[in-house]
Amino acid sequence: MGDRGRGFPTNCPCGARVSRRTSKTITNLGRLFHSCPYGNENSPHHLFKWTYLSMVKENEDIKINLDGLQRASLDTIKGLQVCQSQIETLAIENILAAVSLALSKTRSQD
Ligand SMILES: [Zn+2]
Repeated sequence: MGDRGRGFPTNCPCGARVSRRTSKTITNLGRLFHSCPYGNENSPHHLFKWTYLSMVKENEDIKINLDGLQRASLDTIKGLQVCQSQIETLAIENILAAVSLALSKTRSQD
């Protein structure tokens, strides 16, 4: 998602690949961030993004996708219920046609 400015970034504007790193500074020791090899928190020309900020956007995108999947799933369930009802109707019509055919054969033999 990162190249659109949302979620985990993948490329820096300088063209370098971005990777996830762990801060070794005293003020942010152990804190995760995404950066190109030349980026740092104060660099305006290279990508630097704290991972927790990316995760918020990733979670928002996942929720949007999940909502869409839930709507699609409900539509699919409704479609399957319609198909099941039509199959049951066709099965009944098939039985009635078979009975009608059998009765007509019986009457023609009389
Ligand atoms: Zn860069």
